[in-house]
Amino acid sequence: MTDGSEAERRSREVENLRAVYQSLQRPGAQARTRQSHRGKAAAGVAVAGFLFLLGKAKFLGFLAGVLKFKTLATMLLSIGAYAIEWGWLFALGFVLLMFVHEMGHALAMRAEGIPAGAPVFIPFVGAFIAMHGQPRDAGVEARVAMAGPVVGSLAAWAVLGAGLALEQRLLLALGHTAVLLNLFNLVPVPPLDGGRIAGAFTRTYWLIGYALGIVALLVTWSPLLLIVLVVGLWTLVQRWRNPVPGYDSLPPRQRTLIALAYAALVTGLVATLSVGS
Ligand SMILES: [Zn+2]
Repeated sequence: MTDGSEAERRSREVENLRAVYQSLQRPGAQARTRQSHRGKAAAGVAVAGFLFLLGKAKFLGFLAGVLKFKTLATMLLSIGAYAIEWGWLFALGFVLLMFVHEMGHALAMRAEGIPAGAPVFIPFVGAFIAMHGQPRDAGVEARVAMAGPVVGSLAAWAVLGAGLALEQRLLLALGHTAVLLNLFNLVPVPPLDGGRIAGAFTRTYWLIGYALGIVALLVTWSPLLLIVLVVGLWTLVQRWRNPVPGYDSLPPRQRTLIALAYAALVTGLVATLSVGS
């Protein structure tokens, strides 16, 4: 023990002496180091100041206000954009149904302990909710991805049902559009929900999913789907090349449950596709 620590002490001394010798050989080096330290200190003060302000803002609830404002503002913008095409009432209902879909994701994220951002709406593209932090594994990601279409589809069917019961054409049209919206999100290509669900299976499923996406494009000729396929191809290549170790290793039972839930939801949506159209 004593011998060991003695040897360690001596080697540290030698190292210190070598460092002093080297600094004497290159006087410029030390000056540079000091300067960079000063730079770091200044950056540190700036970061500390920023964090203090951020803490203050959070304390005042200001940040929460901004986040809610972001949702509200983009929601209103989307309603305005859709209203030009379809009228105010339909636009309002459509954006609310998208909001319900996003709330499904938000609830699942809360259940999984993943901090969620505020939902943001993009006119004629849709809406998204940011996930702050990496999910534990592909199973968690699939459950969060599934929750949006599950809650969104339940709302769509409720609106369809109300439309049928009340013989309301607006409600029928809204329900039908929401069924389409949720089905579109289940196309198994990232960044769509379906693509993140397909991630719970082996990498081969991404190829099958992408092929299904191309079939869907040929059927619908949707420009939005074309964009999704281009973005999706890039994502797939990235994920294929750099797989996260252990991320995709799920128990077979969990895989089966995810597959059954996905198949049931798609079947239900396809079965109700002609209602209200
Ligand atoms: Zn979604």
